[in-house]
Amino acid sequence: MEINKIHNLFLECQSFSTDTRKIEKNSMFFALKGDKFDANTFTKEAIEKGAKYVVIDNPNYFIKERTILVENVLKTLQELSTFHRNYLKTPIIALTGSNGKTTTKELINVVLSKKFNTKATVGNLNNHIGVPLTLLSFTKETEIGIVEMGANHQKEIEFLCTIAQPDSGYITNFGKAHLEGFGGVEGVIKGKSEMYNYLFENNKLVFINSDDEIQKNKTLAYSKKINFSKTDRNADLFIESVSANPFVEIKTSDTVIKSNLIGLYNANNINASILIGTYFKVALMDIKAAIESYIPENNRSQLIKKGTNEIILDAYNANPSSMKVALDNFIQINKSNKLIVIGDMYELGSESLNEHKTIVNYLQDKKIETYLIGKDFYSNKISNPDLNFFASFDEFGNYLKAKKTENRSILIKGSRGMALERTLEYL
Ligand code: ATP
Ligand code: MG
Repeated sequence: MEINKIHNLFLECQSFSTDTRKIEKNSMFFALKGDKFDANTFTKEAIEKGAKYVVIDNPNYFIKERTILVENVLKTLQELSTFHRNYLKTPIIALTGSNGKTTTKELINVVLSKKFNTKATVGNLNNHIGVPLTLLSFTKETEIGIVEMGANHQKEIEFLCTIAQPDSGYITNFGKAHLEGFGGVEGVIKGKSEMYNYLFENNKLVFINSDDEIQKNKTLAYSKKINFSKTDRNADLFIESVSANPFVEIKTSDTVIKSNLIGLYNANNINASILIGTYFKVALMDIKAAIESYIPENNRSQLIKKGTNEIILDAYNANPSSMKVALDNFIQINKSNKLIVIGDMYELGSESLNEHKTIVNYLQDKKIETYLIGKDFYSNKISNPDLNFFASFDEFGNYLKAKKTENRSILIKGSRGMALERTLEYL
């Protein structure tokens, strides 16, 4: 069936789903193949649960007038989302970068929704399935779409851009995440820049942080850009100062914004949302109100009080850039009796030992009591009175259990696999 015909059937439906547990009445169900399941086998179940149409790619599950048989369901989902996006002509802002995509997306969304009917990526659904699902969620009422794009290898952002066809875009940063899949830092820059390439080639708008050398250089020859800067008074948005103690505060010549976000690294995420809000002519007082009332829900960088300890818990994930900014932030915070608990950073491939070493070296002269946990940190063990190395979490847990930790200001950060939130049990 041609894509425009499938789209007509899609418009007849009230909703859509790729998960049989979330099927609603009158919906379209896409029978995707996962690692464990082939959703073609759920065709009957999906119809019983209320799906009006099921898109399948296995003829064995064909049911007349209820199934739409295609070559490949995933490919159809992607093509349909592009068709839908072009049918609605919703202006789309795309976001990518190594760190801060979701936070920036949420901030832009709260800011723009002060004035517009917006739709944004739900949670972290930012891949070859999540992006199409985001586009399909747009309706006639949607005035601006905000689409997060994630990648861990080359050509992925290029592909997601051809699906979403954004009208503007922002790259949060070029950091050290997914080094393995991208092939080192140069690979990350090349991979993330695919968004710029798409926007340049299609004469679309680029938002940049012109204090970031890579963003600045990559967009040097391109004129359709809008920037924020802390150093350039002629920038479209000039930021006078930022601070984080621990909550980020931004000062421009017109306003002071006091956020609920922890960590200096969030300053640029906020700055981007102010820039984009200003570009779309959201009133400054609304931008301020939106940012000040935004509370991050994704378990990242939470401020927790336990007993007499105050803890910045950032145990959701870690890579060399996010580790470095989390440490920088913690080091500059105006508190006494600080304690750092950090765990291994995963997925770094052949760079791993070196990247862990860089962090160890960085902490050497900071004069802050630090626990470094995991085998890659342990492999870089050095003798330093402030740095304590543990090969495993269990070893660390036993050590901490036997110790009294009181009146401390603590940073906890490590990769998901380290599950450092377990530290809280021993405090
Ligand atoms: P994911 O790749 O998991 O989708 P993401 O890019 O969406 O991540 P966020 O979820 O917004 O990023 O933030 C994850 C972590 O990245 C934060 O907890 C923080 O440690 C770090 N981080 C956030 N923003 C920045 C930034 N602008 N620069 C560097 N690090 C950042
Ligand atoms: Mg994300």
